[in-house]
Amino acid sequence: MIIEIENFIIESEDEIDYKDEMVYTLQNRTRKILEFFELEKLSKKQKIVIYNSVEKYKAHMEKHVPEYKDWMIGDTYGENINLLSLDEVKKLESHKNFTIDSFMNGILHEFVHVCQREYGKNERELLWFWEALAVNLSGQPNKPISLADCDFSLLKKDFNNVEGNYNYAYELGKYILETYSHEEIMTFIKNPELLKSVEYKIFENALERQKLNT
Ligand SMILES: [Zn+2]
Repeated sequence: MIIEIENFIIESEDEIDYKDEMVYTLQNRTRKILEFFELEKLSKKQKIVIYNSVEKYKAHMEKHVPEYKDWMIGDTYGENINLLSLDEVKKLESHKNFTIDSFMNGILHEFVHVCQREYGKNERELLWFWEALAVNLSGQPNKPISLADCDFSLLKKDFNNVEGNYNYAYELGKYILETYSHEEIMTFIKNPELLKSVEYKIFENALERQKLNT
């Protein structure tokens, strides 16, 4: 099955019965994210590939990560947005309560990474920042977590192997979005070196604010 719409091409081996919701999400809910990144449209159509088995998705992931983990269900490695199909995700022990809404938020999460990529290469040590934006701008629900338990230099170095990684990223992203102006955040996106010069300060301040609020 192939569906082509503005900005996107969706490709799946099987028919997917939630394709209308998917098209709706891609046509409507991506607009705010494009606006955030000050983009009118993507520089080229983004292909979205839906995998209909965990084995195939795992084989794809193993080309890009040292170790596949079963919470990995969507990514932007290579050129495409790659997603494990909704039916397959629901079968995973780690995602028993996964819904169509979670799936759509997951698409938006990956879309944030696509927009961020329009500004340059993804640096591994800044993954915490890109994930911070992705979890916040996609509207994914979050479990509160204390930044006091976060080893920030480890989060920077080895994001994928830190327990609570996305929850920490959410807290940091929330702090950044509430504290910095949109213009300042765009400066970080366009100039990661600048972000690197203040990232520890950002972490310390976010931690401090969390302490004051609890
Ligand atoms: Zn992500």
